[in-house]
Amino acid sequence: MTAPALRHDWTRDEVAALFALPFNELLHRAHSIHREHHDPNAVQVSTLLSIKTGGCPEDCAYCPQAARYATGVQAEKLMSVDAVVARAQAAKAAGASRFCMGAAWRSPKDRDVAKVAEIVSAVKGLGLETCATLGMLSGEQAATLKQAGLDYYNHNLDTAPEFYGEIIHTREYQDRLDTLEHVREVGLKTCCGGIVGMGETRGQRAGLLQTLANLPEHPQSVPINQLVQVEGTPLHGTEALDPFEFVRTIAVARILMPASMVRLSAGRQQMDDAVQALCFFAGANSIFYGEKLLTTGNPDVEADRALFRRLDLHALEVVEESDTVHADILETDTAGCGQGCGCAA
Ligand code: SF4
Repeated sequence: MTAPALRHDWTRDEVAALFALPFNELLHRAHSIHREHHDPNAVQVSTLLSIKTGGCPEDCAYCPQAARYATGVQAEKLMSVDAVVARAQAAKAAGASRFCMGAAWRSPKDRDVAKVAEIVSAVKGLGLETCATLGMLSGEQAATLKQAGLDYYNHNLDTAPEFYGEIIHTREYQDRLDTLEHVREVGLKTCCGGIVGMGETRGQRAGLLQTLANLPEHPQSVPINQLVQVEGTPLHGTEALDPFEFVRTIAVARILMPASMVRLSAGRQQMDDAVQALCFFAGANSIFYGEKLLTTGNPDVEADRALFRRLDLHALEVVEESDTVHADILETDTAGCGQGCGCAA
């Protein structure tokens, strides 16, 4: 059966109507679409390392790396090439196939990009797919990273355009769209999603997914983060999102962007196994693997392995081509991951 063409013209009403479906109906639709495009029992495994932690000048209201919030995160310098390569080797040995590197910058200076390019090239040389999240990028910077061997660039939209101003004041929504355009123009694949549970309405969750789906190209990876509430950040104390609403968000993302990898990212530690299982059924097929996501906890490696065994899930096999990354979850005990976030950078 031929899969239907990807759409880029979703209306807000259509997306809202999907959210409003009876839960079982929504999951049935999402899972049916998932099976048309993906192996329903395979999950991509990525590792995330913070190569430059903290001290960020931005004011993202959820983020412990913002220098202006007293969260206990210490600002660090960019890691050396050797130090990153050692972590990447460990991650590869532990079964990760894609190595994501995050740096808490508003936008890197050209000299930072030159250093990151060196790091990317070395990590790529290990046979890993590479992804970076470094903040806003110019077209030239994107080209430099592409030439160094970068496969993906992560830059999240965070939330719906109309809620964005409640969360971030130090850059505009359009800045994010511009960076995504620069990244697409040089042929980098995009990893782009957002965060839910920040006090937005369901309509605003629909707005985030509508905006993602109506980009000129669907992001190849779509991380859906659940707010991790960190003391000291303005969003600490926000009312928690109903877990079933999170599952609905995953399901709608799957329906809107059928061919993309939908990733469970930050906030997974707060989900019990049953909710994660529902997310996998609803169309999530990618996770971060390791002890930590930028600066928040993540279920440990053993727990992930155990959950995969209980659900008969397997990690995607390594293939040369883009999204279908791989890696078996191996029986080593290297956590691989450094710090991570649902970083909007
Ligand atoms: S989410 Fe990224 S850009 Fe925003 S404050 Fe944190 S590190 Fe900086």
